[in-house]
Amino acid sequence: MADRYLSFTATGPGRFLTRRLGLPQPAALARWSPGRPALDGGLLHLTAGRSGLDLAPVLARTGIGPAGSDRAAAVVLDASGVREVEGLAEVHAALHPVVRSVAASGRVLVLGAPLDPADHHQAAAQQALEGFTRSLGKEIGRGSTVNLVRLTDAPAAESTLRFLLSPKSAYVSGQVIEVGAGGEPSTPVDWDRPLAGRTALVTGAARGIGEAVAETLARDGARVVVLDVPQAEQDARRVADRLGGTALLLDITAADAGARIAEALPDGLDLLIHNAGITRDRRLVNMPAERWIPVLEVNLASVLRTTDALLKAGTLNRGGRIVATASIAGIAGNAGQTNYGASKAGIVGLVRSLAPRALAEHGVTVNAVAPGFIETKMTAAVPLFIREAGRRMNSLAQGGLPVDVAETTAWLAHPASGAVNGQVVRVCGQSLLGA
Ligand code: NAD
Repeated sequence: MADRYLSFTATGPGRFLTRRLGLPQPAALARWSPGRPALDGGLLHLTAGRSGLDLAPVLARTGIGPAGSDRAAAVVLDASGVREVEGLAEVHAALHPVVRSVAASGRVLVLGAPLDPADHHQAAAQQALEGFTRSLGKEIGRGSTVNLVRLTDAPAAESTLRFLLSPKSAYVSGQVIEVGAGGEPSTPVDWDRPLAGRTALVTGAARGIGEAVAETLARDGARVVVLDVPQAEQDARRVADRLGGTALLLDITAADAGARIAEALPDGLDLLIHNAGITRDRRLVNMPAERWIPVLEVNLASVLRTTDALLKAGTLNRGGRIVATASIAGIAGNAGQTNYGASKAGIVGLVRSLAPRALAEHGVTVNAVAPGFIETKMTAAVPLFIREAGRRMNSLAQGGLPVDVAETTAWLAHPASGAVNGQVVRVCGQSLLGA
């Protein structure tokens, strides 16, 4: 269902009217396309505190040249060396003069350090960056995003910095992402086709977000397996054919789903993308077990079962990636979605617990995307008033597109993202829900 308000505000009369009435004025977001692979403008690299990061070579490789006297498309503030509250004055001093001149659809990226459990002054100063980042994200406007990355090693964060400083992260804002020190080494990386030679299985890929994920992973070079229920055969085959992949018609809740996937992939699997999901909304007082059980089965239990089966069978190759799908409803809760909220919160628990073990034992990272309001058939079915609220109640004042979740998945699936593990990254335009 098209966002008519967004189209209307892009017209002259629409802009005039919405400004006069004080209504939200969503900016048209600049997204990645082959003709527009990078941000439109230069990069400004600022520092607060004494940083030990060797950022310059990594930033130079992003392909964004230094900002001249014109507007910066990207501002990177390295505040990882801020260890005292007094040092936060440098954060203000660095960004206050430049924030007004960040280009439309620009990026502000704050870099911080992990909180030091042995130093509550450092922890206070670094945690302060989180509130700062999320607040700036809510006020910057004009389609720009603001995110915080906590890191200790610049090269390990290269794929993350490239993603957040590109049009691929158009709908990711107000996020705090931790990047570890190492991860599995995976050089050399072809940054244009990073997934070449890799096999990706995407569940629920016959349409919606899953279809976009399959398409984006194929763009990045992966051979895709489009998994969906037998009833969606036509769509699943259409997507698979278009992407030069294969369709696997299977209900993911089947007890032997893991075994059947392993059987279909004798050469193993590199990227396991748990995207299939359903809603059966109703307030708890009116919710019979028939609406509760399938949601927990599709969205959570089958994810646990297939993950366990594929790890145990050794189907997931070393250097592999698991990306599960949570939701902001699993973080903030949502009226009418006790079943769905429970299932998606369960995904967050699964990711946090399994990630360190899966990396240590199998060399596989485990992360989740948590979409906010994304324009798909699932959200088109939401009643009009709630749909409009979902679209506008975020810092970018619009819904996201399936491709926004897909690009985030592709970053987590990237061979250079081995140091990104156990993260739950919201793709929600900094939704007010769960923010
Ligand atoms: P969608 O309904 O458009 O597509 C879901 C796909 O999953 C369909 O092709 C469906 O056939 C498939 N599927 C359902 N049950 C299955 C099963 N048992 N086995 C195999 N495949 C099955 O949904 P979408 O909007 O594209 O959502 C994709 C994922 O993103 C879901 O996990 C959803 O919960 C999550 N999500 C979506 C939004 C949003 O705004 N659209 C927000 C938050 C989270």
